[in-house]
Amino acid sequence: MISLLRDSAAHVFVDSVDAPVLGDVDAHHLLRVLRVKSRDAVTISDGRGKWRTCVVDRNANIEATSDVVVEAPPKWQLTVAFSVVKADRPEWTVQKLTEIGIDEMIVLAPTTRSVVRWDAGRANKNLERLRVVAREAAMQSRRVWLPKVSDVTVLSEIANVCIGDPSGSPIDASHRTIAIGPEGGFTEEEIAEGKSIVSLGDTILRAETAAISAAVLMSSYRNKGS
Ligand code: SAM
Repeated sequence: MISLLRDSAAHVFVDSVDAPVLGDVDAHHLLRVLRVKSRDAVTISDGRGKWRTCVVDRNANIEATSDVVVEAPPKWQLTVAFSVVKADRPEWTVQKLTEIGIDEMIVLAPTTRSVVRWDAGRANKNLERLRVVAREAAMQSRRVWLPKVSDVTVLSEIANVCIGDPSGSPIDASHRTIAIGPEGGFTEEEIAEGKSIVSLGDTILRAETAAISAAVLMSSYRNKGS
């Protein structure tokens, strides 16, 4: 972890790190919630790998204090597709997957055993909320590559998807996109739609726990680089 990012008083996304402007919500968060002072080192990023240090005055004007740094994207992209479960669990899942470093999160269209289903209006509203959650979590965890929350997608349309199921083989570095089923699990037909089946261990995990486990295990292979 880069210490300037780790030690910054706050990390915030801007459209351009070359001519940074704080949005109203971020300005409020920095100045009123985090109470960042004009001498505190803050980091800004465009969410596409560029970042730099700066200070922010009480009127939310940004003054850069370092050159722009360009970080390469992760060695390979990691994706978790997950079924919608009840209450605030999707938000919680997106927050944690973002902290762990997942690059793309896909909300699965209802599968055969899905209980919770979003209608079209609710889906758009919920997706917007999930994107806000991902952005906030990416700031909190000091990411410089902003993850993507994709539109609701049918399982069969996800490229190279591996199916998370206790009957599968242990995970390895070749598994980079994993789909997690609803509380009732995937059907045999749905499992057959995957490129392979991956096990996340010998216990039956709740759907949100399975999503986090898949993320941690895939990330550990990427962090090791093999
Ligand atoms: N009764 C369901 C079953 O036996 O499939 C339990 C489903 S579990 C609550 C929800 C989802 O989490 C599963 O569809 C699967 O994708 C994932 N999951 C749970 N435990 C897992 C494990 N040990 N390995 C891989 N995936 C798992």
